[in-house]
Amino acid sequence: MRKAYLNGIILDGTENMEPKAGMVIITDCDRIVRIAPKDEIDAYELRDCEIVNLGGGYIMPGLINMHVHIPGSGKISKETSDTKKVVKLMMSNPITRAYGHRMYNKFALQALLSGVTTERSVGGIRSYDTALRSRIEAGKVLGPRILASNMAVSVPGGHMAGSLAYEATSPDEAAEYVRLIAKDSPDLIKLMITGGVLDAEEIGSPGIVKMPQEYVNAACDQAHKLGLPVAAHVESLEGVKVALRGGVDTIEHGATLDEEAVELFKIHGASHIQTILPTQYFSKVDREFTAASDKDVANGDIVMEGVINCAKTCLKEGIPVGLGTDAGCPFSPQYSFWRELVCMVKYVGVTPKQALYHATLGNARIANIDELTGSIEEGKCADMIVTYDNPLENMNTLGQLKMVIVRGDLIRDPKIKKFKDIERILDDILVI
Ligand SMILES: [Zn+2]
Repeated sequence: MRKAYLNGIILDGTENMEPKAGMVIITDCDRIVRIAPKDEIDAYELRDCEIVNLGGGYIMPGLINMHVHIPGSGKISKETSDTKKVVKLMMSNPITRAYGHRMYNKFALQALLSGVTTERSVGGIRSYDTALRSRIEAGKVLGPRILASNMAVSVPGGHMAGSLAYEATSPDEAAEYVRLIAKDSPDLIKLMITGGVLDAEEIGSPGIVKMPQEYVNAACDQAHKLGLPVAAHVESLEGVKVALRGGVDTIEHGATLDEEAVELFKIHGASHIQTILPTQYFSKVDREFTAASDKDVANGDIVMEGVINCAKTCLKEGIPVGLGTDAGCPFSPQYSFWRELVCMVKYVGVTPKQALYHATLGNARIANIDELTGSIEEGKCADMIVTYDNPLENMNTLGQLKMVIVRGDLIRDPKIKKFKDIERILDDILVI
């Protein structure tokens, strides 16, 4: 049950982390119980430990992906699939429902093998997120820690309405859906406040506000009464304001902010979750490949710029910024979270060290799980990853890990089957 990790270099996940060599990390079941210089550890302490030789690798906290839709592969296809139909089909009989659960297991495992030891779902099928969380907690399947939202709340014609989100037709109904979702003990509530790129009707208007202010207020009040934080899909400035006035805790995606929006962030103590990775699809990928229309490209540019500007402004203003990938959406496979760190360095202009902090302890703080995970510290959960090279100098080393440790369980040389086309494009775009 006890393991001793030797010959590694520690990056502990805190803001000012510096590589520390010559240290030993001892874990007992799912906890880190001791971190000390090698010469302070005597043979007696190691007597019942499995010795894990890190061979000069870098050991750091497991990554936390703050924005995941677990049931999606991230595959790209030229036809947009009708999510509503797909979900309906999946729920139609016991065989397809069981298939759905197996698909959840598979995608959660992919995320774990890529170094994500915690993921926060923000819109899933019915109560599948919490069901997966239970299977993982019971040790029936191997996966990351799940912070589950289950289905989101949207409005008729709104983002993901009828597939991964309920359609509220009044403020009372929005609150009622929150109570319904809360019955399955989720960790958070997700609201779809604006539209996205694909449901924009004209150039220049992605992220149009679909959920009226009163609905947002009612849903947030109800969620907070039940002790649940609220995450909101928002892709325009007006949407940010509606969301923050209503009291949401995290703005997912975001938009270019003005002074009033910055003030609202501060008044409400809200955080921003940056999701740059999938926004590159319309904005940066060759149109011969994406078959995107002029409208999609123009709106894709606006959304990408909005997410980047939002993160930049929040960092400057001392507003917490978290990292997510919108995993499951086209162009964002479940195993690509490490690329969001690269996006943060490339587009937001932070250092690799800062990106690693935001993806670990920073995200843990926003998700309120920093007592449990997010840094390598005695007493915390043994959620760690090991890279071959120093990620502060070579971020690409995060793309193929040496080891993943989740709640004390060690996985050596994790392998993932990836989409070759997406990998090739991302390798080209994300040069830093
Ligand atoms: Zn999303």
